Amino acid sequence: MPAVLEKTSQKANLPLTPGQIIAKHQKTAPVDVIGIATELGLNAWEMQSLPPNVSGKIFRDSLNGGPSGFSIAVNASDNPLRKRFTVSHEIAHFILHRSQLENGDLVDDAMYRSGLSSAEEAQANRLAAQILMPFPLIQRMVDAGVNDVATLAKMFQVSQPAMKIRLGIPVT
Ligand SMILES: [Zn+2]
Repeated sequence: MPAVLEKTSQKANLPLTPGQIIAKHQKTAPVDVIGIATELGLNAWEMQSLPPNVSGKIFRDSLNGGPSGFSIAVNASDNPLRKRFTVSHEIAHFILHRSQLENGDLVDDAMYRSGLSSAEEAQANRLAAQILMPFPLIQRMVDAGVNDVATLAKMFQVSQPAMKIRLGIPVT
């Protein structure tokens, strides 16, 4: 095989970075968070047995974990929009705080607080919002004439407060 071709095929076989995987699933709204989790090697599902004050968790799961060895569980009782945010938040922990996940289950309460620092939780919330509500896609909707938070929130399958925070509109 000519060297150039070989080089090209090697390049094509490079695994995607987390950022590339996220971008791949952000081409249309709503963003496919389960697709992102799956491609990152995470198995995500709903758990019936989580207490009401727990939104979800990410944990090393030798039995049911995806290729990465980790699973994301979300509270089955939460509403669908919250479940999407929780999956996105746990994906963010997987990307940003991977080494700390080796210390045991990372369990997020209803306010998305876990054993990590509040700065790390804020960081995870920011990335979760970036995953669910990419600005280029929001801009495309706005350019197409969508100009209210309720419609945008519905299109992106996020709560209205989440969309307001993303757009920098005060949440009352
Ligand atoms: Zn968290």
